[in-house]
Amino acid sequence: MKVASSRTRKAAKRQTGSYALVLRLPSRRKISVGKLGVVSFPRGYYIYFGSALGGLRARTARHLRSDKKLHWHADYLSAEVPWSQVWEMADGQRWECEWAKEASGFTESTRGITHPAPGFGSSDCKCPTHLIRVNNPQEVRALLRSLSPAPRRIRLGTITAA
Ligand SMILES: [Zn+2]
Repeated sequence: MKVASSRTRKAAKRQTGSYALVLRLPSRRKISVGKLGVVSFPRGYYIYFGSALGGLRARTARHLRSDKKLHWHADYLSAEVPWSQVWEMADGQRWECEWAKEASGFTESTRGITHPAPGFGSSDCKCPTHLIRVNNPQEVRALLRSLSPAPRRIRLGTITAA
């Protein structure tokens, strides 16, 4: 069994693809986000889309660590409130922009401010943002399951162990 689990871990390390991270902001917070400046984030659930073609699990593990230098926009947000969910699509493809676009279409039908941070995570592409706000966990799940291809939720324990 030990051999199998070590093999599984190696396979997980090699996987590349795209991911979505989720956190819950319990109350409105003003957060300084690098070059974006200070952004006012309304309370709610935030979904961030990224990709890691150099190693998916290493990247998501980094996002979950608290002792890291603030580099990406996502780091500034998670320094205030840690990510509580990780969803992955380990198919070697970069879906982050497509997902962000689909998510914007999804949130047009929901209430509230859905894009509080224009330019968040999208410095290297033409997307308005890679960070989407929704109201509750039901919307998080419905949104992520509506994406094509749909990412799968990963147990956080699996990631820190990898
Ligand atoms: Zn993009």
